[in-house]
Parts: sequence; structure tokens; C-alpha cells
Amino acid sequence: MSLKCAAEGCVEAAVASLDERQVCRTHFVAGAYRHLESVAAQIQEPNFCSQHGELATRFLEQCMREVTNIACAAELPNNLERARLLDILLWASELYGRLRRGPRVRASIPILIRSEDEQKPWEEKTETVLLSVHGFRFLCRHELHSGDILTCVRLDNGRRADARVAWTRCRDSGETEAGVEFVTDEDFWGMEASVAASVFPSRDR
Ligand SMILES: [Zn+2]
Repeated sequence: MSLKCAAEGCVEAAVASLDERQVCRTHFVAGAYRHLESVAAQIQEPNFCSQHGELATRFLEQCMREVTNIACAAELPNNLERARLLDILLWASELYGRLRRGPRVRASIPILIRSEDEQKPWEEKTETVLLSVHGFRFLCRHELHSGDILTCVRLDNGRRADARVAWTRCRDSGETEAGVEFVTDEDFWGMEASVAASVFPSRDR
């Protein structure tokens, strides 16, 4: 006989584990969403990674594993459930990636962006919007494409590093918002992940 769902009053069979309880698909989906919402709401906070990163990482890993198990189970979920499971999987893996890349900090650091494009090289002064140990986000008036390599020069201390454009998004203002990752593994901002918050106090809170 199969195990019953641990949720109160539920008579469905347990198919997955969540919070160390065996639950049915419905209660797994509901519980996973609750957890994901809570992680998503807090992940921007400067101390989240150092204080809750371990726990959140473990939850997300388990969540992704359980979703995969459910999707591969003998009794197949219906289309709606499948769509929700896929949504949970994508959301969990996105949050997982963000946790692994370390905390992000809002900070406006003046920076010179230079493109050595052979056809028409350009440079532009701008400011960072968000920093992480591995890269930063900024707004730019020039066209950018994923994979572009840019030279970044900090205008406050002259430090220089090459970075690769990871993603871009057009803003209503006509500017391009872009996220870049440093090509080399140096500590460009002079911050260790754990002390990022105190080094760069947030401006807009
Ligand atoms: Zn249940």
C-alpha cells in the first residue's frame, strides 16, 4: 500500500517529499510555490546569501529533484499539473543560479564602457545599477549583444577588466540594460561576497 499525503485531511497518495514530509502532487505544488515565493522575495536582500543561502540552496536542489521524479512517475500528471511542474522547475533553477552567483548589491559606481568593435569602436560613461562578485548590470545608450566583450574601467579608481555581455533588454527610455560577467576571475569591486553589503551600502532604500 502506498503512503498517504501528510497534509491534513488529504487522502491522496504521497509522491514527493517537501519539508521532510511525504506529500501528494497537489500539496507538493502548493508548498513548492510558497517556498519559491519566499526565496524570490528575499533573494535581493544583501544578507540573504550569507544567512539563508545554504538552506535555500538545499530546498531548491530538492525541489528540482522532486519535480523531475514526479514528471517521470508511472502515473503521469495531467497537462495543467505538468505546466505547473515545469514552471516550478524553471523558477527553482533560476533562483538556484542566482544563489550560486552570489549576492547582488545595488550600487552606482561610475564606469567607462569601451567596445573594441572593429567596424566602429565606441566608449560610453555610465553607472552600475547592480553589482555581484562576478559582474554587474548597467544602462547603456549603445547597442549591445550577448557575447560582446567590453572593456570596463572604473572611473573612481581606474581599475580595468574585460567582461562579456550575458543578456540585454531594451528599456522604454531607449537605453539598453545589460548584464555582464567578468572574463577573468578577479575581485573587480574589491568585495568578498560576504562583506558586499557593508562595502556598498544600498542607495535606494
Ligand atoms: Zn495532499
